[in-house]
Amino acid sequence: MLRLGLDVGGTKVEGVVVNEMNKVIFQKRIPTLKASYGEFLDNLLSFIMEIKVAVNAPFSIGIGLPGAIDPTTGKIKNCNCLVLNGHDLKHDLAVALDQAVFIANDADCFALSEAMDGAGAEEKTVFGVIIGTGCGGGVVVNKQLLSGPNAIAGEWGHNTLPGYHASEDGVSQPCYCGKSNCVEKFISGTGFTERFNNRLGCSLTAAEIIAAAELGDSEALGHYRHFIDAFARSLASVINTIDPHVIVLGGGLSNAESIYRDLPVAVSRYVFSEHCCTKIVKAAYGDSSGVRGASWLPAMHSAK
Ligand SMILES: [Zn+2]
Repeated sequence: MLRLGLDVGGTKVEGVVVNEMNKVIFQKRIPTLKASYGEFLDNLLSFIMEIKVAVNAPFSIGIGLPGAIDPTTGKIKNCNCLVLNGHDLKHDLAVALDQAVFIANDADCFALSEAMDGAGAEEKTVFGVIIGTGCGGGVVVNKQLLSGPNAIAGEWGHNTLPGYHASEDGVSQPCYCGKSNCVEKFISGTGFTERFNNRLGCSLTAAEIIAAAELGDSEALGHYRHFIDAFARSLASVINTIDPHVIVLGGGLSNAESIYRDLPVAVSRYVFSEHCCTKIVKAAYGDSSGVRGASWLPAMHSAK
């Protein structure tokens, strides 16, 4: 059966239809309309109807979005597309379309995509990490997403950076979640870039900072080394807890090749093991992993 995956973002909704050979046969992006929940729902339904006409065959439906479904109420929470919060989108779509719809957090979809047929396809336990605008994560064991009573499995980005002390790399960093010095404030693309630019009064991109570090610029190199060390400390806490076979990195900052050279060495200093055998690899599907993972959600549920 064909699989429709939808990736809901703050500005765009991406849809792909994937066939039985895991080949994308339809792909399109539309603007996210979010003046009200009703407008969002109508826009999404008309997009799905358009896709039905285009592919002219039945498909399953999975949706990834930047939030979570409250396991007790079925309603969306923690979503930065605010009009969705408090609504049972899964139910409303299922009624309107007369078919089951599956929804998960977008970082979970990323992890599922890489575990199903991406960089972690051969591994039992996959920890997927997005280091982009924010810092998300998801855990897949035996090709099943781990989910718990709070719907926050893998949300390590809002742990306080392990080993943080006030003397390292500037001042305390308040986070939108209400705490300070979260992992996200150090290792997301936004955190990495803002910390450097705020300290030095410049406006470089993450790629420019890393390129400067590779050329030996002392400020950039110091910042990059601190980033690697902070990343290693935060990943070591994950490895010590769930011991994943592979950690797959996605998001804009994951494109920095030097991370795959330097991070494993740094992680091994903090893990509770003489040797750290955990693989750290780049995502196979890059920016497409979220929408591909969404398309896998129905298959994951039917396999349970
Ligand atoms: Zn936070």
